[in-house]
Amino acid sequence: MRKPWRRLLAGGAIVILTGLAGLTGLLAPADRLAGDWRTALLAHEVQSDVLIVAIDAQSLRSLNTWPWSRGVHARLLDRLDTADPHAVFLDIDFSLPSEDAAADRALAASVARPRRHTLVLPAFWQYASAASSTGRLLTEPLPVLREHARTGLVNLFPAPDGLVRDAVHVEDFGRREYRSSAAILAGQEGLRPGVAYPIDFRIDPASFEYVSYADVLSGHVPAERIRDRTVLVGATAVELGDTVPVPVHRAVPGVTLQAMLYETLRRGIPHAVPAHFGWLLCLGVVITWWRFERRGGRAQLVFALGTLTLLPVLSLYLHGVHDLLLDVAAPMLAALLCLITGLLVNADRQAWSAMLAALRLRRQQALMSGLFSASIDGILVLDASRRIVDCNDAAAKLFGIDREQLIGYSLDMVLPVLSAEAHAPLRPGRFEVPGLTRGGPVPMEVSVSRVAGDDTGLMTAIVRDVSERHRQHAALRHQATHDPLTGLPNRVLLNELLDTLSADVPAALFMLDLDGFKQVNDTLGHGIGDEVLRALGERLRESLSEELQVFRLGGDEFAVLVSCYRSRAQLLRLADRIIERIREPVTAGGHRLELGGSIGIAIFPEHADNGPALMQCADVAMYTAKSGHHHSAFYDATRDHNTLRNLKMAASLRAAIEEGRLHVVYQPKLRLADRVCCGVEALVRWHDPELGNVSPAEFVPLAEGSDLIAHLTRFTLQQAIRDHAEWAQQGMALDLAVNLSARHLGDAAFMSELVELVADRGIPPERLELEITETALMDDPERVLAVLASVAGQGIRLAMDDFGTGFSSLAYLKHLNLHTLKIDRCFIRDIEHNVSDRKIVESTLLMAHSLDLVVVAEGIENEAQATLLDQLGCEVGQGYAFARPMPADEFVEWYHAHQPSRPQLRSVGA
Ligand code: C2E
Ligand code: CA
Ligand code: CA
Repeated sequence: MRKPWRRLLAGGAIVILTGLAGLTGLLAPADRLAGDWRTALLAHEVQSDVLIVAIDAQSLRSLNTWPWSRGVHARLLDRLDTADPHAVFLDIDFSLPSEDAAADRALAASVARPRRHTLVLPAFWQYASAASSTGRLLTEPLPVLREHARTGLVNLFPAPDGLVRDAVHVEDFGRREYRSSAAILAGQEGLRPGVAYPIDFRIDPASFEYVSYADVLSGHVPAERIRDRTVLVGATAVELGDTVPVPVHRAVPGVTLQAMLYETLRRGIPHAVPAHFGWLLCLGVVITWWRFERRGGRAQLVFALGTLTLLPVLSLYLHGVHDLLLDVAAPMLAALLCLITGLLVNADRQAWSAMLAALRLRRQQALMSGLFSASIDGILVLDASRRIVDCNDAAAKLFGIDREQLIGYSLDMVLPVLSAEAHAPLRPGRFEVPGLTRGGPVPMEVSVSRVAGDDTGLMTAIVRDVSERHRQHAALRHQATHDPLTGLPNRVLLNELLDTLSADVPAALFMLDLDGFKQVNDTLGHGIGDEVLRALGERLRESLSEELQVFRLGGDEFAVLVSCYRSRAQLLRLADRIIERIREPVTAGGHRLELGGSIGIAIFPEHADNGPALMQCADVAMYTAKSGHHHSAFYDATRDHNTLRNLKMAASLRAAIEEGRLHVVYQPKLRLADRVCCGVEALVRWHDPELGNVSPAEFVPLAEGSDLIAHLTRFTLQQAIRDHAEWAQQGMALDLAVNLSARHLGDAAFMSELVELVADRGIPPERLELEITETALMDDPERVLAVLASVAGQGIRLAMDDFGTGFSSLAYLKHLNLHTLKIDRCFIRDIEHNVSDRKIVESTLLMAHSLDLVVVAEGIENEAQATLLDQLGCEVGQGYAFARPMPADEFVEWYHAHQPSRPQLRSVGA
């Protein structure tokens, strides 16, 4: 019982129950029985002074009549008197006169005779009528007898079981108290009237000495045997029927029982332990049980057996040693009830929990088998030797084998890799292994686990076909790593591949940017643009060998990874081939289109030893290529704004511009026909204390990367105008050319600021020429055209610088309000020897003149070039052959030194 109040309740009920059983006498038979057993165990012979003069069979035979004449008894008295006993009790009824009056008189005479010892005659009482228990009738010896003897009661009443166990020693008859014969004989005082005192049946009847009445009468019993003895005279012969049923000794003659009564009084009456002590015992038993109850059935059994043994032993001990009578039926009953209650409750609890467990198990089993059969995943149950002992339908379907057939298979037959370590026990865990199915090997995910609570080595394997997942993964990966338009691998895949590059194998990355693609997109629409990209992507993929992988990085940017190469020359040839393929016309949307491309080449690990850096290098190289005269370029750290030197340079440049530490030099332009200096080109110079002389080819692109370029242009222009104004005052009539960055042409605000600046300084606008490059026109031609138109509208001239290095067609230039065309020096360098260069220059001149443009040849380094160009019809020349760029004051000197005697004030083309 887990709850204490329940235990309390049960215990209380047991105490009350046993108490009630005790009170109602229900336990009395048990107590009597227990007392009898105890007594029987303790029965023994005692030392007694009782001499029983027995009216036995022998006496009856010798006198040969019955009832005897009272004269006989008179004679016996006489005999006894002469022997001088301690006391005499005649257990013979003398209440009525007999038929023989003489004999009566003789007896009376005998009784009346004076004697030293006590003579006791019996009396008894009975209820006046059988129906009532109020009026009592006392039957006493005849008055003549009782005058001279003492009268003692001999009443004995049986217990409900018919056995006599106790006796009342004092009866109160109102007028007088009567004592029992035994009490008189024993001289026992202080006994309470009406109280039944127990008879001590431990006293063996054999403790008394028996002599035959007849023997005493005939004088055969010597007086010494009688002297000082307590003599009881009574019937023992069976035929006289004076026997009393008693416990332990079954039936004893009345006289013997009187002797036992007497002896009991003499030895001391056993005391009954008060009833409330029995109740306390019950309580003790229950309390003890509470302590045992919690410990289970076995403890309770021990408790009960202990209690049921201890209680009788205790009562035996009390009876035997202390003459205390303890009834233990009630506490024993309590112990039994405790045991039964405990066992019942325990059994109940176990039964309940067993029932619940069974229910739970059934539910669990139902759930498990439901899961097992409904699972989409295959489930295999394996024994310790990896044999399939059970499986679900999903598993059978997965492997394409009948379930009945699959059961019994070894795991190796379906998942060979999983059981590769043939004899090692299967490891629990998740694995991805190929599974053998009817349709061939299929990737499967297997989750192996031990069956909990099983010690035979059972395992389960949950198997799932993951080929679909693989397919999806692959598709997703393809999607993530490929460009949807061209189907080429994308930047993600390139990055991954770059990460795997090893320093032992030299590799190169080509960054390819299409030229002119923006125009296609803008003029023909994105649909055609996409078609062009698709076609070019396809073309690139086709034309490149296996070890070269093409990527589309976005927009019109492609990359080629060269995973192994022999020489730089080889890389250049490859780049040329790619450009050639790009230049082949593409037909898209009915249009035949021609595009170009620039390739930047970065070498791993020479230029960069990691993917992102290599990409950046290739990017820088690509811009170099775009702005240079070749279609491809290797990475050059000096062109890279992001190198340490360039970052440092950017900081110093800013300071130099702000502090006015830049200066401007001038290179003269000469009319080739008469070598008269007609103008100058202003070129910026920077000397840094730390970096030394830095070329504008290096720092101008750097400045273009930030707002510095605006400051730089402003500074150059202001300085040049200032110098120009001074020269004008000296009478030097010169055209002034200033370079403009491509960046400015998109910046209308800055351009109008420049125009204002020119107007403010009072320089005639037609004296100023702004040199722009073709690349400046590429980004947003319309906007640039608008800006240039407004500049030209102010009267400022425009010159196309570095002509021939870009891709703009002359027809296109027609829309610009150009005044001058500057042929790039790469065409001039070999013009005397290189026929194609000369042809290009010739045709450029032809075309330029047809457009009314003045042509300037740049980079003339010798007289022969100057002469040839003059012959070809080129108006103006510029180059080291005439003068290097020089500071303003130096230029003035040079000007005066080189000016032919005849001053030429007219400007070229004006
Ligand atoms: P550019 O406009 O083509 O300038 C001419 C360049 O050719 C100058 O180089 C000049 O020194 C060089 N040069 C002149 N004659 C010869 C020759 O006979 N042979 C050789 N090999 N070279 C010759 P510089 O001064 O180093 O300028 C380089 C470039 O820097 C210029 O090319 C121009 O694009 C840019 N630049 C220079 N100053 C400025 C400026 O103030 N603003 C802008 N935006 N760019 C400038
Ligand atoms: Ca220039
Ligand atoms: Ca130039």
